[in-house]
Amino acid sequence: MMRLNDDITVIKGIGEKTAAPFRRAGVFCVYDLLTYFPSTYKTYPEVSATLTADEGAYAAVAAPIKNISEHYAGSRLLTTASLNLLGLYVNAVWFNQRYLKKTLKPGIRYVFFGKISYKGKIPEIVQPQIFSLGDYEKLKGKKLPVYSKVFGLTDKMIEKAVINVLSEIRLEEYVPDEFLEKYDLTGLDTAVRNIHFPESDELLAEARRRLVFDEFFNFLMTQRLSVTEETKVKDSLGPFDISVSSEIKSALPYKLTNGQESALNDLLTDFNGEYITQRLIQGDVGSGKTIVAFIAMAVMAKNGYTSAIMAPTEVLARQHYEKFSALCNQLGLGIPCILLTGHVKGKARAKALEDIASGVPSFVIGTHALFQEKVQFNNLGLVVTDEQHRFGVAQRNALAKKGENVFSVVMSATPIPRTLALILYQGMNISTITEKPSVRKPLKNAVIDPSMRRNAYALFVKEIRAGHQGIIICPLVEPSENVEGENVEEYYEKMKQTLPPDISVGKLYGPMPADEKEQVMEDFASGKTDLLISTTVIEVGVDVPNATVIMIEDAQKFGLAQLHQLRGRVGRGDAQAYCMFVDTSGSKNPSKRLEVLKKSNDGFYLANADLKMRGPGDAFGVRQSGDISFKLADIYNDNQLLKQAAECVENILKDDPDLMSSDVFKRFIEDSAERTYLNL
Ligand code: ADP
Ligand code: MG
Repeated sequence: MMRLNDDITVIKGIGEKTAAPFRRAGVFCVYDLLTYFPSTYKTYPEVSATLTADEGAYAAVAAPIKNISEHYAGSRLLTTASLNLLGLYVNAVWFNQRYLKKTLKPGIRYVFFGKISYKGKIPEIVQPQIFSLGDYEKLKGKKLPVYSKVFGLTDKMIEKAVINVLSEIRLEEYVPDEFLEKYDLTGLDTAVRNIHFPESDELLAEARRRLVFDEFFNFLMTQRLSVTEETKVKDSLGPFDISVSSEIKSALPYKLTNGQESALNDLLTDFNGEYITQRLIQGDVGSGKTIVAFIAMAVMAKNGYTSAIMAPTEVLARQHYEKFSALCNQLGLGIPCILLTGHVKGKARAKALEDIASGVPSFVIGTHALFQEKVQFNNLGLVVTDEQHRFGVAQRNALAKKGENVFSVVMSATPIPRTLALILYQGMNISTITEKPSVRKPLKNAVIDPSMRRNAYALFVKEIRAGHQGIIICPLVEPSENVEGENVEEYYEKMKQTLPPDISVGKLYGPMPADEKEQVMEDFASGKTDLLISTTVIEVGVDVPNATVIMIEDAQKFGLAQLHQLRGRVGRGDAQAYCMFVDTSGSKNPSKRLEVLKKSNDGFYLANADLKMRGPGDAFGVRQSGDISFKLADIYNDNQLLKQAAECVENILKDDPDLMSSDVFKRFIEDSAERTYLNL
């Protein structure tokens, strides 16, 4: 029997070698595969015998090949097949497909499916997929899943693996019938089948509703189960002498904002309170959460306790480490800073582990490497989790459990309206920093269309000449046959040609090897790279105050919260900063979302605006991310389901606080806890 937590290599057709790209995409076990939801769907249209499609539209044409030729354009191999469409000639063109000339036979009729372009003299189908007439007939009209890709992983591979799993497994229902009825939810097994291979739009919508409910349900249930046992812990760490707090504040080159002050006060009051607490500090990008954590950690140290701060990425951890070390030196605090990430190896690692265990009150800074079994903390008093939406609840608790009773602070830049935050962070106290340091000039925003790119590039050059740096965001890593949009690979090449040669350009994306990614970020942070072309991986918390201009390509494809996070990468220093959203939709009416972003730089205002603005219509676009780590759910759009899931969790726990009544349920919860660890 296949189990959800089994390694993906149990799946027919996935060996060690094919497993690699799956793992790079975050798919480690069967469950991960089933919840690797399609990012969109495509339907193959009727075959047409003439060319009726508009420029840029997709079409399928059936035609014989008249002749086929190859030539090089720069380093790219171009294969061109001339198709005879009832006397009208159309070219099908492919890039770097070495085998095509040998396999495609002139005279034979194939179906070509691809994007139509009228730019040259002869109309073109660009990079079309090729089918035999029979194969195409079978595909036509079906809604087929399109998954987000990493190198070496194709839709076909994922589809096959999912089909193989679904033929062997039947998912157990764990939500009691009464709730399924009450909220009108489809069964779990049906929902999983239909999200991958929907027979209709209605079934797809039902499947999605159910799985969104599940994501909320799991999140809330895991959290509730872990919170109830911890809220009752008496605070035996205090009383705390908090005088170092004012010492640090008076030594800083700036004054804390009111929001920073009150968040810090909240924390210090917690420390001297009756119970151990967990606190969420919400503060927009650039609101200065780090220094608040730093001061709280210093108070801990001066009272004999070690604190740990956990960042979601290696780069961010290192950046914190450097800042913390510098501050400790400047302020003469005499608190040792210890870095522990996956990349700290050998002797350095042994030394770090020894120092952590020594019991000398210190600052331990790292990634999730911090809560491995081997890390022995001594006198741990506070755990800070930065940019928490990247971590699961179980991961956070694992670190908190390293100490008997440990304060926990979670810092998030995801602006969540208070009503939703109260549901999502049950059992936590919430502090919100609403303002940004006033020294900063507000970001200047513009929504531009592609024809204005030239002016945009000129602004980049101007800023770089003035000693600043820039960032360009593309939605894709590399050219894709199914998804339209700018990609980092080609953009990088283009910018190297477009910009003066002394401007150094770098590129960054998720599927790069970790070392390389880190190097790229280091080079950018240190000012070695002037312009960075990146996907949204740059989103998380990285602080490069010297970056003053960002341009987001295909901006209409991103969610509002994500766009806001992205532009938060610039304008962190004193200089004027700029953000340009490139709207490539071709639509005359500018996207509402972009208009709102242009108007306001305030994340909390935006979150509320977003809640009002978005209808259920745009649930499937490029995923609305940045909001905790849900795959499908969107806390704004799906807030109704969030409330229902919360109500459901409460009702179940009211009758059955330990979930003893249902085996299925217990197993499901245990399994999901196990998975959180599997995937580290
Ligand atoms: P975030 O809340 O996004 O994590 P950071 O903590 O990285 O923001 O702070 C962003 C920048 O603002 C840092 O360079 C930091 O030194 C600076 N900063 C923080 N607080 C203040 C303040 N009160 N006045 C001026 N600059 C500040
Ligand atoms: Mg931060």
